[in-house]
Amino acid sequence: MNKLTLSDFNFLLSETPIKPRLKNELRFVTSTENMSDEEWNDRELLSITDRNGNKGVLLISIDDNLYILPYEFKAGITSLSTGRSQSIICDFCQTWQYGNKAGSISFSKDRVSSISYLCCGDLKCSMHVRNKTSAAHTSRAQLREDLSIEQRIERLNSRMKIIVSGLPLEPVHLSM
Ligand SMILES: [Zn+2]
Repeated sequence: MNKLTLSDFNFLLSETPIKPRLKNELRFVTSTENMSDEEWNDRELLSITDRNGNKGVLLISIDDNLYILPYEFKAGITSLSTGRSQSIICDFCQTWQYGNKAGSISFSKDRVSSISYLCCGDLKCSMHVRNKTSAAHTSRAQLREDLSIEQRIERLNSRMKIIVSGLPLEPVHLSM
């Protein structure tokens, strides 16, 4: 996605129907300060979190459109039957993750219902599909797949399209 400044982000937020309280709690600078220009370029998915990482907004870039998805996040996946940490495959990037490095993310569909997905605990799916993380290498050893990086990026994009199309969302735009 295109690199955003704090004022870009605040403008986009002002155009988005998100609870004012969540807007105030978002930590844009903390969430993005270590990102190089190259990493911005490589990110089709970026999370801006609150102080604790329990909620935030996901920025999703699809076909030059940018979407802002408010979410709630719960860290760690445990088996209901044994109570032990349970490994998962991320619903976004299909990376295999240890339960303690995974989580679940929920989006509101309307006032009463929400939809949840299993996800990488760090939400760095764009980095995992590009093999830039140790989790990516662990996952390649766990799952027998013969895919190029481009194919993984394509798969992440098509997964994000499905997730976005199931939510009441319009793309946001910076003013010209
Ligand atoms: Zn992921």
